[in-house]
Amino acid sequence: MPGFELINKKELKAIEKIFRDGGILFAHGFDALRKEYNVREFEKLCCKKFVCKNSLAVTSGTAAIKIGLKALGVKPGDEVITQAFNFIATVEAILDIGAKPIIANVNDSLNMDPLDLKNLINSKTKVILPVHMLGVPAEMNVIKKISRKHGLKILEDNCEAIGAKFDGKYLGTIGDAGALSFDFGKIITTGEGGMLLTNNRKLDKYAREYHDHGHENNPSLPRGKDTKTIYGFNYRMTEMQGAIGRVQLKKLTEIIKKNKLRYQALHGLIKNKFKFRRIPASSEIIFDTLIFIEENKKIREKIIKVLVSEGFGTKNLPDAIEWHCASYWKHALTKNQILRSKITQKLLEKTIAVPIWIRRSVKDYVELGKKIKELK
Ligand SMILES: *Cc1c(COP(=O)(O)O)cnc(C)c1O
Repeated sequence: MPGFELINKKELKAIEKIFRDGGILFAHGFDALRKEYNVREFEKLCCKKFVCKNSLAVTSGTAAIKIGLKALGVKPGDEVITQAFNFIATVEAILDIGAKPIIANVNDSLNMDPLDLKNLINSKTKVILPVHMLGVPAEMNVIKKISRKHGLKILEDNCEAIGAKFDGKYLGTIGDAGALSFDFGKIITTGEGGMLLTNNRKLDKYAREYHDHGHENNPSLPRGKDTKTIYGFNYRMTEMQGAIGRVQLKKLTEIIKKNKLRYQALHGLIKNKFKFRRIPASSEIIFDTLIFIEENKKIREKIIKVLVSEGFGTKNLPDAIEWHCASYWKHALTKNQILRSKITQKLLEKTIAVPIWIRRSVKDYVELGKKIKELK
């Protein structure tokens, strides 16, 4: 599953190098005192890896979503449609700019239901914010078609499916912009951190200035004399995060490969016994979670017990469902949004999410599969 399992001497060496080279922990300036620009290099590497014109490194995935919404011109009072199976961060980012989160339900792929999305569009809608949950793409072809029809922008929350593709394109590069997270639970990690991807140069320019107090980073001027036209905030990534990110990004292919072996070992053993989350056609997933549905409460509880006692846990479902299903967010959403999210809650309550850990062997997953199989 996450990149933290594979943190080793390579990340440590990258940090040591920063200190050997002068200890400049800031992404900008100090040109004479440094040998490298880690954040800049990490951004370049993301452009190359995800085949995207612009990458902006920021402090978190939540910040990337907020900055993306601002760059797309979302204003107080605008409506942003996201989904009920999610993480609270997406709703927080929408609320933080004074916009209104509107919650679509999910379908059997556990991602945004395009049919429900259609019902929710009105004259106040500004942005569609699909979330690629737990390694699997949303149906971006349908969502894109809807967005075009209504003249809406798309911001992809790709915090949970970095490296996954839809129709041959990396997630996060299909909509107008995409947010990635490198927090400690994600497929690759910088401790905390995020990235905003976009092929739109204007959007990147606004985002870049906004995340850095409005700095235009005019190459002909020292930072103290830099030009500005907007005010922003500080969402800058540090050099230490940038250095770790460069190492982690290079591990992504290997992580997905290792996930796949474990996922397939488990799936192969139990595939005839359960109904699984639907994986949309044209998807390339990252195999970090295997999700299936068990209607029978008694059997479900037995399986969960085994997952917990064997040390695997159940990730978001049901371990942390309160943080991942909108029906629980009375502190952030209107009554109406809570009520309509119950449809998703009912579906999620029947699901079990098995995390794929790289530190657990393929054999461990075979043993787990046998145990689960016995319970059904
Ligand atoms: C992790 C996550 C975020 C937020 O990322 P942070 O880097 O933790 O701020 C947003 N959306 C989803 C779906 C996430 O899983």
